[in-house]
Amino acid sequence: MPISERYTTIIAGAGPAGVLAAYHAAVRGPVLLVESMSLPRYKSCGGMLHHHTLKTLESYGKIPESIVLEPRTVRFRYHDWDRRVLKPTDLEFLNVDRARFDEWLTTLLPDTVELVGNCALRDVTQDDTGVRVTLRLGGEDIEVECDNLIGADGGRSQVRRALGVDSTATYVTLQDFVKLEGPIEPYFDCIYMRDIGDEYAYSYVVPKGDVAIVGSVYYPHTKRPWEKQDLTLDILRSALPELGESVSREAAAALYLRSRADVVPGRGRVLLAGEAGGFMSPSSGEGISYAVNSGRLAGLAVAQSGGASALDAYTALTVDIRANLFRKMRWLPVMESPIAKLCAGFVPTSIVSKVTQGL
Ligand SMILES: Cc1cc2nc3c(=O)[nH]c(=O)nc-3n(C[C@H](O)[C@H](O)[C@H](O)COP(=O)(O)OP(=O)(O)OC[C@H]3O[C@@H](n4cnc5c(N)ncnc54)[C@H](O)[C@@H]3O)c2cc1C
Repeated sequence: MPISERYTTIIAGAGPAGVLAAYHAAVRGPVLLVESMSLPRYKSCGGMLHHHTLKTLESYGKIPESIVLEPRTVRFRYHDWDRRVLKPTDLEFLNVDRARFDEWLTTLLPDTVELVGNCALRDVTQDDTGVRVTLRLGGEDIEVECDNLIGADGGRSQVRRALGVDSTATYVTLQDFVKLEGPIEPYFDCIYMRDIGDEYAYSYVVPKGDVAIVGSVYYPHTKRPWEKQDLTLDILRSALPELGESVSREAAAALYLRSRADVVPGRGRVLLAGEAGGFMSPSSGEGISYAVNSGRLAGLAVAQSGGASALDAYTALTVDIRANLFRKMRWLPVMESPIAKLCAGFVPTSIVSKVTQGL
């Protein structure tokens, strides 16, 4: 894959934030979008698309039916496992195959975006004239220049580190894809139980065609999370015998956002979008809508302002998103307390549903 010596914009990470950023930045001039994984990339995910994601994507084209799984939509349900309390809410998600969704997004890119897989950004330097990026491609380091760099390289962003911005702590997540021995209810069940210990945050179960995802989220630095996941599966199967054998298990990291300092739009000529910038719901773990929205705004900022002014434009454009994140962070200590999880089982379902809409 030929790579030029200079681009108007370079973007690291071909997730939803990087793709949307590339789409818009292309208006200003040639874009290089590099992805460290081979393409199409794979991201561990529940594949639940929030209505904010669907709304943002409306103007880019119709989401193909081929990426949608059965049941087509699932509603979020709070589940206090120990007390067998179920609170179905009105919050609905489109149930998709995440890998196919990500691949579809890349098909929206215009020809002026050069998308290169197996190409990792390693280092960044910048001055008044532009940004120099070191890329690792085919076992060699190459230097490429640009007017603006957008770091959309996820929760463990190398761009963020290269800027000297502190990384955010991360939850440990484990997802099992289990065979379904019979139908389960069409819900995105968010399960709280007390038997797994203090390092455990919650689990979720969601049907995906003839399998179900059983995911669990553990607080940062959890030791031996796979043992806790085995125990969680055993407990869930005791009441849900439809959850058959696990066909695969994957581990990942998700941002553990607790402080306003975790959300950083960028430095100088470098913008941070999606999880790299701390744009993800701290309360629900929903990140795709934040990625598409912040990515879109980073691309628009570059397209409209470019160069040294792009960060000011991006900072202004993301005011509402950051205010939304800070509001959620303020409520987190209350929501995460054992007393709040207990109370959720007793308050009317309509109130749980209303609170859930704001997560
Ligand atoms: C287990 C799990 C389940 C989830 N479920 C949901 C869900 O159901 N719904 C939802 O909305 N959100 C969910 N999320 C969150 C959501 O997946 C993320 O918030 C979203 O993908 C973030 O998008 P992004 O573009 O910022 O980053 P990512 O999707 O993480 O993409 C970043 C890309 O950058 C690449 N990269 C990394 N380093 C480099 C480098 N140095 N050079 C070049 N490329 C690099 C990575 O390979 C990756 O492809 C889940 C997360 C996890 C972990």
